Amino acid sequence: MEPISGKTPSAYEFPLLIKHILKAPIDYRRDQEIVYRDSKRFSYREFHERVARLATALTELGIKKGDTVAVMDWDSNRYLECYFAIPMIGAVMHMINMRLAPEQLIYTIDHAEDQLILVHRDFVPLIQSIKGRIAGVKRFVLMNDWEANRPPAQGIEFAGEYEELLAKAAPMEEYPDFDENTRATTFYTTGTTGLPKAVFYTHRQLVLHTMGATATLASIRSGPGFHGEDVYMPITPMFHVHAWGIPYVATFLGVKQVYPGKYVPDMLNSLIEKEKVTFSHCVPTILAMLLKDPSAKGMDWSKWKVVIGGAALPKALAAMALGMGIDIFAGYGMSETCPFVSIDRLTREDLSRSHEEQLEKRTRTGTAIGLMYLRVIDPKGNDVKRDNKSSGEIVLRAPWLTMGYYKDAKNSEKLWEGGWMHTQDVAVMNDDRSVRITDRLKDVVKVGGEWLSSLEMEDILASQGEIEEVAVIGLADEKWGEIPLACVVQRAGAELTAHKVMEHVKGYVDRGVLPREAILLRVQFVDAIDKTSVGKTDKLALKAKYASAKG
Ligand code: AMP
Repeated sequence: MEPISGKTPSAYEFPLLIKHILKAPIDYRRDQEIVYRDSKRFSYREFHERVARLATALTELGIKKGDTVAVMDWDSNRYLECYFAIPMIGAVMHMINMRLAPEQLIYTIDHAEDQLILVHRDFVPLIQSIKGRIAGVKRFVLMNDWEANRPPAQGIEFAGEYEELLAKAAPMEEYPDFDENTRATTFYTTGTTGLPKAVFYTHRQLVLHTMGATATLASIRSGPGFHGEDVYMPITPMFHVHAWGIPYVATFLGVKQVYPGKYVPDMLNSLIEKEKVTFSHCVPTILAMLLKDPSAKGMDWSKWKVVIGGAALPKALAAMALGMGIDIFAGYGMSETCPFVSIDRLTREDLSRSHEEQLEKRTRTGTAIGLMYLRVIDPKGNDVKRDNKSSGEIVLRAPWLTMGYYKDAKNSEKLWEGGWMHTQDVAVMNDDRSVRITDRLKDVVKVGGEWLSSLEMEDILASQGEIEEVAVIGLADEKWGEIPLACVVQRAGAELTAHKVMEHVKGYVDRGVLPREAILLRVQFVDAIDKTSVGKTDKLALKAKYASAKG
């Protein structure tokens, strides 16, 4: 960095560090609440102290600047404490996706070089099952969730229990200053290839993301605003893209926060009602699950604003939610973007229109938020016409996009080809610069918010023995958003059945190679797999032919 011309030597150069997000609420919202399920309530003052104790406890466990500390917890006040304490001592927080197949989990723990794992009691058996294969992890801390008894933990020696460690540790009085470009968080995205890829974010990026998201959400006077008087509850797991970064925004705004633990529909619905939750975000599958749960009967939803992202917001779901009084709208982002990219902004005029008229806007992918440059480009790199018809790939620039995939130079350069971050999402743009995602270039199937790599499934299916050729595509599904469909050409003379194919896939799920979502696979026997002019599998043609197949 060039020295600042005119800067007096004593002037403090303020680094953009996560610790500063904590400052505002403790100054003026110290009695505001952070609620954990139906069991615990903390004031911001207590939260602040717990973060400071955790920082000391981690340091006493030998964690230093640059070390990686992993978290395996449901959504909780503890996780929020980790969001702050781990990066504030200069360490990197690895948010483990517990839904990954065990083999992928082992890969990510090893790749991230996790030194310490904070693990909720529910995941102790999972850790036990992979213990011999994550030798780099030096220590484990148990999160016993205030239960009286501890889960049996053969083979794992815990360095302590979370609450006991916090009780013993003196609150850290001052957090260190360091370069704002220090890595703060990391997590993995399972994309096209079998191996998960690590995205990472620095302090500077997370602070700017928090400012960008806060400014956008708080400046909307009508519709999807998020203000000091809101009550926030995430329903996007905290291991997934910082729960869209909103826990940082909520803390910065000093709003009441509610963390629901494991997602159980009647618990979520009762928290929404009892704690008077006004602002949440989730994938479409989760919202549909909540609205259809018996506990939803008779609930008053009229104060609830919900941002839907992670997948397109279907018009039918939006119509149902609006009909129940929910202020529903779409947002867009991805693991590589921290994640906030765009959001629907409804004007007062929009809100005076009928539900039917509002649906078109509420289900679009929105307009880019502040500091985000969003272009839709054709294969030559030129912007497509803003006519809501011409489609192209969304490419981005913003201060909070991952600067690459950690330790993966090849995929990193591909992601940033030409200096713009390639989303592999296909969209059309309107002349008001709002976009609608219409397709995906990436070869993945998104099942209820979780990725399944079609290439990995194809490899596994091809090893079945009686399969000549196979292609896996996404099939629209009301409950899951998408489910995988295998288009299968069988070998001459083979007597393959869908059941046999499924048994083969199930074997890989049971062995922990494929995630559980893979058992939703449907099978379509075909005579030949369509090819493009250069001989590649033509997934678009397959989708057009079979995407309405019933399996
Ligand atoms: P992830 O990295 O798992 O968060 O997934 C990000 C991907 O989900 C994006 O690249 C899109 O393909 C998809 N996605 C996210 N939000 C939307 C949206 N509002 N509409 C359509 N697709 C979306």
